[in-house]
Amino acid sequence: MNTLKNILTLLFFLISITSWCQPYSSNLKVNENYTSAFENKSVRIIYLVSSDRRINNEYLAGINRAILSVQNFYKKELNGLTFKLNNPIVEILKSDKKASYFYSNPCDNNPENWGYYNAYNEASRLLGAKFYDENYTWVIYSDGPGDKGRGSSGVCVMPEDDLKGLIGKHPTQPDTNRWIGGLAHELGHAFGLNHPSAPEEHRKAIMWTGIYGYYPDETYLTQDDKIILLGSSFFHHDKKIVIKYPEGTFEGIDEINSEWTEYKINNSTKYSFKLKELNNNYIIIKSIDRNLLIKLPRKNGLSYLSLDNGKNWQKWWLIN
Ligand SMILES: [Zn+2]
Repeated sequence: MNTLKNILTLLFFLISITSWCQPYSSNLKVNENYTSAFENKSVRIIYLVSSDRRINNEYLAGINRAILSVQNFYKKELNGLTFKLNNPIVEILKSDKKASYFYSNPCDNNPENWGYYNAYNEASRLLGAKFYDENYTWVIYSDGPGDKGRGSSGVCVMPEDDLKGLIGKHPTQPDTNRWIGGLAHELGHAFGLNHPSAPEEHRKAIMWTGIYGYYPDETYLTQDDKIILLGSSFFHHDKKIVIKYPEGTFEGIDEINSEWTEYKINNSTKYSFKLKELNNNYIIIKSIDRNLLIKLPRKNGLSYLSLDNGKNWQKWWLIN
């Protein structure tokens, strides 16, 4: 009788587990390691195929490899902070324009800008790409023949030259790292990074000449770059942060306006907060139903409370 009961319990357990998992299984890949709060804040990559060109699977694989490498480069430079990729990582977009159109259609007074704007306009017309899009930072790889990859204002456009480079078929620069580093650089511009203010000191910086022979291990982000990226809503840790203090824990993710929860150890009380401010050392969360701000050290140190919206801070728990 007991055995039967055990079997039934196990069966019930298995059924409930499977049915509980089912609705989520199709989403598992998309949100792997991330919370749904970041679903839209991602780098969205388009492989724009001209009407007289075929989809080149080598290009597709090359773009995939490149962006994963660049995502890791930023993660390494920012101690775990990086951008999220869209799902699928690369979208194929068929254009009804011929490849030659992209660098020859006069869409601006300056011909230097034609490649950038024509590819952007096409992605905009067909998919709604836009500058300073709050949901996506756009990367558009176009097979239009050209050599003027560029990133700015949330949109990065890379021409055929870069596609050839990514698969080791560039006629003069066969090292694929040169072109992956090139993506890291132009994407940096799309995220708001500038060339270094003291370029002579930063020859190997990714936002300067670090793409030529130094990517990925010897090139780097400057302190100025890091400050900009820390403030970008596209950059976050892919894991939850848990800060423990003697009465419980604070848990949340590294993003302005994200929800944080305080869990008490001794009872089941939960309190809700929103992340108000963050920097390298502190996270400030604001209670959603009480007049209360809490300043938490990221690693260890004193925490503080404020009951007057941050004018005065009183010492709270020592967190270590
Ligand atoms: Zn540049």
